[in-house]
Amino acid sequence: MDRRTFIKNTLAVPLTMQTIKDFKQATDQLNPTDELMPALFVGHGNPMNAIEENEFSRGWADMGKSLSKPKAILCVSAHWQTSGTMVTAMPKPPTIHDFGGFPEKLFQTQYPAPGAPELAKETTTTITKTKVGLDYEWGLDHGCWSVLLPMFPKADIPTFQLSLDYTKPPQYHFELANELKAMRKKGVLIIGSGNIVHNLGLFEFTDKAFDWAVEFDEKIKSFIEKGDYQSVVDYQKLGKIAQLAVPTNEHYLPLLYSLALQNKGESVKFFNARTTAGSISMRSLKIG
Ligand code: ZN
Repeated sequence: MDRRTFIKNTLAVPLTMQTIKDFKQATDQLNPTDELMPALFVGHGNPMNAIEENEFSRGWADMGKSLSKPKAILCVSAHWQTSGTMVTAMPKPPTIHDFGGFPEKLFQTQYPAPGAPELAKETTTTITKTKVGLDYEWGLDHGCWSVLLPMFPKADIPTFQLSLDYTKPPQYHFELANELKAMRKKGVLIIGSGNIVHNLGLFEFTDKAFDWAVEFDEKIKSFIEKGDYQSVVDYQKLGKIAQLAVPTNEHYLPLLYSLALQNKGESVKFFNARTTAGSISMRSLKIG
């Protein structure tokens, strides 16, 4: 059915919520300007990656160069947890230096990307699973800007963040994230930013990793390769290695946001896939 026929048929029947929904879906699908953006999960690790030239920041830079320029970027960062779900809606989000004990240069670093107030408002209707609040207080935390600085150094792409509701279980996050698929069709690059393995209590200044950290990272990788996302959601079933790798799950949850955005037939490509500092997995992935 072409667009004109569809509109004619739709208008010939009384408008109900269902026909409005069908109409919206059909017009969305038929918009010739749509470009389906890939989705990313990025292991962000040490905030110094923002300003250091190293294998991880190079991996982000290469990824940025390989993508067509997004209309906007939506970050789901491990570092913004709220009760309920919020989306930043200010026109000029401040750069938040939400860490301590790092060199002054890092505190001076800014990522002056504009915000995306209109898209933020749209997100509140795109997500139906919960009421999404508009936020004017947060900004861009280091889970977002430390990755974007190497990836899109011009900071000229409108950028906004979605918070993690810390009161909800992993399954809830996976389902909520699925609703964001529609944003990909609008040229929005969605980036989950966290770490598959993140245990700062056991962090060491080493390039190596604990056996349990590598084992957990590899298990999650194999679930992803098999398309067994339910096992990724149910990571706690991995027992002891899961408790060590994910002592608190704010860095793990952004992975679920990225995986939930995959459409049938789309590939997953890993990059920066290394576990380091004893207990930090930098494994990142691109969907689509
Ligand atoms: Zn972090």
